[in-house]
Amino acid sequence: MQGKIILICDLLVKYGGVAPKMAEEAHSQVIDQVVQEALDKAYMTEKDLTAVAVSIGPGLSLCLREKFLLSVTHSSVHVLHNAVGVQKARRIAGGFNLPIIGIHHMEAHALVARLIEKDLQFPFMALLISGGHNLLILARDLGQYIQLGTTIDDAIGEAYDKSAKWLGLDLSRSGGPAIEELAREGNAKSVNFSIPMRQHKDCNFSYAGLKTQVRLAIESKKIDAKIPISSASYEDRLSRADIAASFQRIAVLHLEERCERAIEWALKMEPSIKHLVVSGGVASNQYVRARLDTVVKKNGLQLVCPPPWLCTDNGVMVAWTGIEHFRVGRYDPPPPAEDPEDYQYDIRPRWPLGEEYAEGRSEAR
Ligand code: ATP
Ligand code: FE
Repeated sequence: MQGKIILICDLLVKYGGVAPKMAEEAHSQVIDQVVQEALDKAYMTEKDLTAVAVSIGPGLSLCLREKFLLSVTHSSVHVLHNAVGVQKARRIAGGFNLPIIGIHHMEAHALVARLIEKDLQFPFMALLISGGHNLLILARDLGQYIQLGTTIDDAIGEAYDKSAKWLGLDLSRSGGPAIEELAREGNAKSVNFSIPMRQHKDCNFSYAGLKTQVRLAIESKKIDAKIPISSASYEDRLSRADIAASFQRIAVLHLEERCERAIEWALKMEPSIKHLVVSGGVASNQYVRARLDTVVKKNGLQLVCPPPWLCTDNGVMVAWTGIEHFRVGRYDPPPPAEDPEDYQYDIRPRWPLGEEYAEGRSEAR
């Protein structure tokens, strides 16, 4: 099984992203084996399961097809994630007469914090920073979310990934960890990038402009991405490290500023808030964690960050969110055993997490 997972990583490096058709084929080939391995690891068979939880959105079905995650956890909920996964989930639920729970991927990123921090009660705030999202939410209760801010263009993870690619970094894990590592060697004040959206007094984000600033800095320093960082000269490596460090400082300052304002907004609505959860792939970054910890403490709150392996996409977060929903009776009945397995039917490409904070617009003036 290990070999199959490595094969998918290899495809990612070679093509700078998985071609959807190829991903779907690869997933279809391994899904049964992966499910079996997950069940074996949990010393279970399908008969032991209580329900099936599966991530069904948001994201274009093409994107969902690229995701490939799965785990069995807590001896009750079986998790699958992606279009091939949705199909498999329906097959298991139908075949074994199990309830099925459709999960919002970003809700799962947020709620997994309640698995590791038992004191984390509603209401709390969450900053979700990943490859496709930048969300600031107020979680009032399970399923009751208010969106305080979102990105108007790119997410921070996308900016990390593109910057890493343009800097010729090793993308075998993903761009984020590569930038984080190289940034430690650089001077974070050497390149003068500007902080996005300062004139907008809201909690939204923008990373497209910063991405362009990074590209221009790379061009002006004549850095050739075709020369991998491992073969770069000492001066070349240093100038790449300076850009990485300066980019990271500004990207995170943008998060800090928006969080500070969001805390103010959220406390007006829910004065009992004690925690800010930071999750999503970018939350595995140590610099991000340290900077946000300072902001959160300064405002009298506590930061909750899942361990890195639970910040980036994982099956456990979907399982846990399934358990949370199952406990309060939110699930669908088992699909009919003769279900045609039409996964398109299930996927929700556009699925906002909660309602927008309408007062935000007037506060921003
Ligand atoms: P979304 O959750 O928005 O659908 P995704 O599921 O593709 O997007 P995640 O798996 O949650 O994203 O996170 C992946 C992102 O996290 C990538 O952009 C990656 O570069 C970034 N990332 C991972 N580790 C780090 C790190 N140490 N520093 C910065 N970014 C990181
Ligand atoms: Fe994710």
